[in-house]
Amino acid sequence: MSVLYRNDRPGEHAPSWYAAKLPSDAERPPLKGEVTADVAILGAGFTGLWAALTLARAGRSVVVLDAHRVGFGASGRNGGQVNLGFNQSQRTLEARLGAARARALWDLAEAARAQLRDFCATHAPEACYRPGSAFAEYTPRAVAELEDEAGWFPILAIDWRITDSMSLRTGRGFASTRGPGLALVWDASERWSFSVGGRYEKERFRLDDGGIAPDGIGQETSVPLYLGITRSFGRTASFSVIAGAKMGGRLRLEDDTGDLLEESDYDTAPFAGATFDLRF
Ligand SMILES: Cc1cc2nc3c(=O)[nH]c(=O)nc-3n(C[C@H](O)[C@H](O)[C@H](O)COP(=O)(O)OP(=O)(O)OC[C@H]3O[C@@H](n4cnc5c(N)ncnc54)[C@H](O)[C@@H]3O)c2cc1C
Repeated sequence: MSVLYRNDRPGEHAPSWYAAKLPSDAERPPLKGEVTADVAILGAGFTGLWAALTLARAGRSVVVLDAHRVGFGASGRNGGQVNLGFNQSQRTLEARLGAARARALWDLAEAARAQLRDFCATHAPEACYRPGSAFAEYTPRAVAELEDEAGWFPILAIDWRITDSMSLRTGRGFASTRGPGLALVWDASERWSFSVGGRYEKERFRLDDGGIAPDGIGQETSVPLYLGITRSFGRTASFSVIAGAKMGGRLRLEDDTGDLLEESDYDTAPFAGATFDLRF
């Protein structure tokens, strides 16, 4: 006997949140006599019910039969988490099936998530679907495998002192992770320095679930050119102000499966900013 059913009584739901929330009219009578339909589906879990819905939407008549009850199996007991991918890591799937097939499986899972999200929005708002999932591991080995999967990319850092007061730098901090750039810096005195620079920036970000592309992805590329001035306070602190213009700006909008929805250029846009650096 399956571990899942070991403590169950035939035809009765295991005690679960799902069973506790069932409306009183959710009883489904056993099939008596004969029924004719285009398709008979055995098993009224997620798989059977989704198949039935898909067929019914395509105009087929469908009968769903379950040996116990609707949602008697895993579907009536699960944690309700709509996770990414499969219960094997993408790296494992790639090793077993090759990159193209693993990618096709990933796309399949993403399409299923999108379908479920749309279904909840239109048919089951009470399910309170919320996008996003946290992923954690609890054995040292699994944590090490997870770390191996983390993406990495090289950052080229240049700090070339051309003369005592003039240098060419790639920039520091978070900005340098957005794309390659260079700044020519003139240290006019111990306190003041001036810079002129530019960078190619590319930023991708997840969109919220209330806009035109729920759970989609936005991407902005641009080339900001700027002038900056920095006032140093000894070796530990400095205050900088920069101002410039974003050139060649381009916005791209993808849906939650990565398909392109829209792409457009935007006009040159001015920007200004200030930073305060403190070194310990
Ligand atoms: C404790 C637990 C937590 C989980 N948490 C998550 C989660 O958070 N996120 C997630 O994505 N997945 C989760 N899962 C997995 C997920 O619930 C299952 O993958 C999914 O429910 C499987 O759906 P199913 O319709 O294929 O099977 P089931 O829901 O098991 O449905 C099979 C149905 O077929 C019926 N049946 C069997 N044999 C016959 C027969 N001969 N004739 C007629 N009927 C028959 C059974 O009575 C049952 O109702 C969890 C699973 C469990 C057990």
